[in-house]
Amino acid sequence: MTGPASGRLRIVGGAVHDPANGVDGEVRDVCVADGRIVASLPPDAPTLDARGMVVMAGGVDIHAHVASSAVNHGRRLVPASAAGDPARAPDLAAGEPLARSGSGGVLPSTFTTGYRYAGLGYTTAFDAAVAPVMARLTHAELDDTPIVDAGAFILAGNDELLFRFIDAGERERAREYAAWLLGAAGGYALKIVNPGGVARWKGGGRNVTALDDAVGSSRVTPRAILECLVGAADELGLPHPAHVHANNLGVPGNVETTLASMRAVAGRRCHFTHLQFHSYGGALGGAWRSGAREAIEYVNAHPEVSCDVGQVMFGPAVTITADAPVEYLLHKSSGRRWTNIDVELETGCGIVPYEYKERAAVAALQWAVGLELFLLSADPWRVVLSTDHPNGGTFHSYPELIRLLMDRAYRDDQLKRVNPKLLAGSALADGLAREYTLNEVAVVTRAGPARLLGLSRKGHLGVGADADVTVYARSANQAEMFSTPRYVLKGGTLVVEEGTLRRAPVGGRLHVRPAYDRGVEREVRRFFDDYGTVRFENYAVGALRDAPQAVERGGVAGPEPASSRPAAAGGPPHRDDRAGAPDARHRNAAPRGDRAPGAPPSGGGR
Ligand SMILES: [Zn+2]
Repeated sequence: MTGPASGRLRIVGGAVHDPANGVDGEVRDVCVADGRIVASLPPDAPTLDARGMVVMAGGVDIHAHVASSAVNHGRRLVPASAAGDPARAPDLAAGEPLARSGSGGVLPSTFTTGYRYAGLGYTTAFDAAVAPVMARLTHAELDDTPIVDAGAFILAGNDELLFRFIDAGERERAREYAAWLLGAAGGYALKIVNPGGVARWKGGGRNVTALDDAVGSSRVTPRAILECLVGAADELGLPHPAHVHANNLGVPGNVETTLASMRAVAGRRCHFTHLQFHSYGGALGGAWRSGAREAIEYVNAHPEVSCDVGQVMFGPAVTITADAPVEYLLHKSSGRRWTNIDVELETGCGIVPYEYKERAAVAALQWAVGLELFLLSADPWRVVLSTDHPNGGTFHSYPELIRLLMDRAYRDDQLKRVNPKLLAGSALADGLAREYTLNEVAVVTRAGPARLLGLSRKGHLGVGADADVTVYARSANQAEMFSTPRYVLKGGTLVVEEGTLRRAPVGGRLHVRPAYDRGVEREVRRFFDDYGTVRFENYAVGALRDAPQAVERGGVAGPEPASSRPAAAGGPPHRDDRAGAPDARHRNAAPRGDRAPGAPPSGGGR
């Protein structure tokens, strides 16, 4: 029988894949009460029959572009994609809020984004590139993206005020500024995109190409920016380390830059995003070839490093990034339409609609490089799934990607269809036998991302976890299996029933408000007075729908609302030894100062 909309529910008899708790396909019941996983329920509790099916936690998307001014500009560039995929309002159950129609395509509209993520069994997603000055828009859009719990990474790697602190040798001030900025924008993590390169290009110069290129001042270099922000994220005790899009994205030979960037921050937790776009071998600017082996060997050997793959999938895409100089090059080389948004002082943005074709040699290489990273990864907890939606392909293509990972025969068939011109020396062309297991898929799509994000209640089914649960009907075709889950629960509410979206609860907001030395506000305010087009008092997004996640800095916990506190009971939701990451609670001592723990970063309430 079908269970109730929410409340208590026993999911009966499914094969549970919960790798965070060491459960690998064991047939057992999963019990839900009041939005959480519980150890047991009385015998008369309502049940959901999952016999013969596969049960996992809800999916967690660590890197996508779903809610920002950049995404809105992207939507305007692909009207045909939206028109070709009209999304009618779902038939929600009686008593549900009004269902919304929208558009799909490569950049679905807000409501459709939430509906479709849930329809794939995903219940958490992060927008990976939000300009701080536009963060208010992101939060408004996320408010209109139902079901999924969502957050935003805040762009900080080309920020003029940050550069001034670095130039002055004031790394600690830079760290306090980064903490203020994150809280002001309501972000979850610090994002670094092409450190220094965007600022230099915006200033009329050329993009940087190496870690020690000067960005205005010889003291401000990609290396210095990386060291500063990776260190800041670590010292501030942020749940997710700095999220880095390295220099030289998409350029032949860039794997050397990627490895140099990893070495520059060795020993610090750091997440390198869409690694596929940064794993091309050979000489910089020379001929294209795979550099996946070099990249993944480093990742395999360094437990403090994590990545998401940024897989390229054949079909339509929109390249959309704060890395404006890269998009300028793509626009010039492809002749495709584009837009360039120089967002205030903080960052940049370029967008070029694109299509990856099997018969195009570079696209085929990119497809192969992504699969090599997955298939050569020694630790799937640190090499997690993304297509950098919609850059390498849309999130709709995740089920197809899962099939490529799980089914070698299918993958080899696909390999025969692609242009082999640039695949010499590729591990994939040489033959990779690995097939991901269901547990490994659970790792790269939920348990791993949740752990890397420091989300102790997500990505697993231990007691105390959020009751975000996806139930899949088995199929020999994994793409089919993962594209149409039979049941999805979000926070204990049954949102997908018998494969149909039936409920659309409001999604939560995941954000942090790290403590910082209030002394830094004087300099920020002066900078706003001198250069800002927005008043300091009007900049911060103010209170958000949900309380911030707890941030523990220098061993001193910030204020933590009861609602965000992980339950003490239950399994080990966040075991860093398994993730291979250093203990997240071991931080370098941070200066105390007259810090404002959790206080609104500036005016607040706006
Ligand atoms: Zn991205």
